[in-house]
Amino acid sequence: MQGLQGKVAIVTGAGSGIGQEIAKRLGRDRAKLVIDYVGSEAGADATRKAVEAAGSQAVVVQADVTKMADVQKLVDTAWTQFGSADVLVNNAGMEKRSDFWDTPEADYDKVMAVNLKGPFFLTQAFVRRLREAKRPGRVINISSVHEEMAFPGFATYCCSKGGLRMLMRDLTVELGPLGITVNNVAPGAIATPINTALLNDKAKLEALVKNIPLGRLGTTEDVAGVVAFLASDDASYVTGATFLVDGGLMRNYHEQ
Ligand code: NAP
Repeated sequence: MQGLQGKVAIVTGAGSGIGQEIAKRLGRDRAKLVIDYVGSEAGADATRKAVEAAGSQAVVVQADVTKMADVQKLVDTAWTQFGSADVLVNNAGMEKRSDFWDTPEADYDKVMAVNLKGPFFLTQAFVRRLREAKRPGRVINISSVHEEMAFPGFATYCCSKGGLRMLMRDLTVELGPLGITVNNVAPGAIATPINTALLNDKAKLEALVKNIPLGRLGTTEDVAGVVAFLASDDASYVTGATFLVDGGLMRNYHEQ
């Protein structure tokens, strides 16, 4: 597919996991890529090589999404290297486990900064340039089923992803008149490094898979396909929605 020919996409956290797969997929669809990473330099470079091998172009930028100067650098790089930034994928994210009563302030600050402050101010920088240039755009946030569903031991993560849901809903209204759509993609359980502990715990993993109606974990490709749709012309009238990519997990409440 070449549906994103002429488009420029910024993907945060694109040196590993879901973000890496999204960048590769958008590259195969012919978007030019700004590949963000903070620690995974080799992974980001592998993403760039995959995009180039697919016949598109990419630039790698080290940027910490919690820093204002760094998010501005991502947007500026897209415009100076490729002449625009049409699609923003806020994918970078993290989680920290603790009982609510033991959660340190530093963990709260870090999770909220990466998962919510980052998308907030990167989207602001992205929108300012589009507004000046009078161009439309797409904002796609990788939230989680935990923008909606409780996750005991991960209150900070739930706060951040719930905040991302309301940011999406508010921006749908504020940015619609600028021709900018805003949607969330909410993965369930996907096999990536963020889930290393779970993937190494056979009993927990089996119990989780039993709760997934489609009977398997999700893949990074499952998530990337939905992002590619939301970035494409087929989704030009789609805004304000959360797309669950969870094999039915969210709907699987039942009385024992
Ligand atoms: P992952 O491989 O651990 O990816 C997390 C990414 O976030 C990494 O690429 C990391 O960059 C980046 N990141 C962390 N802090 C950053 C910062 N300050 N600035 C820039 N980038 C930063 O895990 P993943 O599963 O692919 O997670 C991607 C997104 O999917 C996250 O938002 C996560 O909450 C969401 N999600 C995942 C699942 C799942 O089951 N896997 C489910 C629901 C939602 P570096 O590697 O360069 O440090």
